[in-house]
Amino acid sequence: MNDMMRIETPAAMQELALEWRREGLRVGLVPTMGYWHEGHLSLMRWAREHCDVLVASIFVNPTQFGPGEDLENYPSDVERDSALARDCGVDVLFTPVRDDVYFPDHGTWVTVPELTANLCGRSRPIHFRGVATVVCKLFNLVQPAFAAFGEKDWQQLAVIRKMARELNFPVRVEGRPIVREADGLAMSSRNVYLTPEERAAAPHIQKGLRLLEDLVRSGQTDSAALREAVTQYYDSNIPTGKLDYLELVDPATIEAVERVRGDVLAAVAMRLGKARLIDNKYIAFGN
Ligand code: AMP
Repeated sequence: MNDMMRIETPAAMQELALEWRREGLRVGLVPTMGYWHEGHLSLMRWAREHCDVLVASIFVNPTQFGPGEDLENYPSDVERDSALARDCGVDVLFTPVRDDVYFPDHGTWVTVPELTANLCGRSRPIHFRGVATVVCKLFNLVQPAFAAFGEKDWQQLAVIRKMARELNFPVRVEGRPIVREADGLAMSSRNVYLTPEERAAAPHIQKGLRLLEDLVRSGQTDSAALREAVTQYYDSNIPTGKLDYLELVDPATIEAVERVRGDVLAAVAMRLGKARLIDNKYIAFGN
C-alpha cells in the first residue's frame, strides 16, 4: 500500500482485515490511546519491519478508566498523530468512536484475575478488565499476526499475553523496551499534565528504581528494606509526589516477592500533580 488510509468504523476495519487474510497478508497491530510520543513511534517502526500491512489504532477506551480518572481530559491530537503515522509507514490508522466500539448494552468482559490483584490492578480495579476487553475486540477487528506493546506497561503486557494464550488468539504479543526522555523520565502522554517543577522532579522516579537495583546488586535482598530506602529517596527528591505503590514482584506472575532470589520487577506508580505516572525496572540475574 502506498498511502495511509484512515478507517473509523469497526465494520469497515474488519471487512478490510478479512480481505487481507484472504490475500495471505501478515498484519501487524499497534494499539494506542493517541497523543503519540517516541515510545509509540518505536513500536510502529519495529512493527513496520515485521509485517506486510501495519495498523495503528487510536482509541481512548472508556472502560479502562475508573470514576474520577482522566478519561475526559486525556490529551489528543489526531491530526498530528496522523502525520506521524504516515512517517512511520502505517497503512491504516484505525480511529473508531466510543459508540461504535461499545453497544449501549455492552456486557461481555474479559478478566484476568490472577495477574491483576497487584500493582495497577489494585489501585485501578476495573482498569485491566477494560484493557483486556478492548484488546480482544481489536484482535477480532484487525486480525493481526502480531501486536506490539510497550514494557512500560509491564502488567498490561502480562495480562494481554495471558489473555491471547488462554483464549487461543493466533496473535503473537510482542513486548518492546521503555523509551525515555534524555533525563530518564519514561515517555508518557500524561507527562503533559506536569508543571515545570513537577517535570523537573519526575526523572527521580526512574532514579529511585536505579537506586533499588544498586542496592539489590550490592546484596540487599529484603523487599521491605529496599522499598523503605527508595520511599525515603522519593520523599526527599519528589516531595510533592504521592506514591501509589512501589513493589517488587515476580515478572511473570506479578505476585509480590518478599526476598529477591532471582529476576524481579521493581514497579512504581506515583501521583505527581495531575498526572499518575508509572515506571518499572527489570532486574535480571543472567543465570
Ligand atoms: P498508550 O497510548 O499510553 O495506551 O500506549 C500505547 C502503547 O504504547 C502501549 O503498548 C504502551 O505500553 C506503549 N508505550 C507507552 N509509553 C511507552 C514508552 N515510554 N516506551 C515504550 N512503549 C510505550
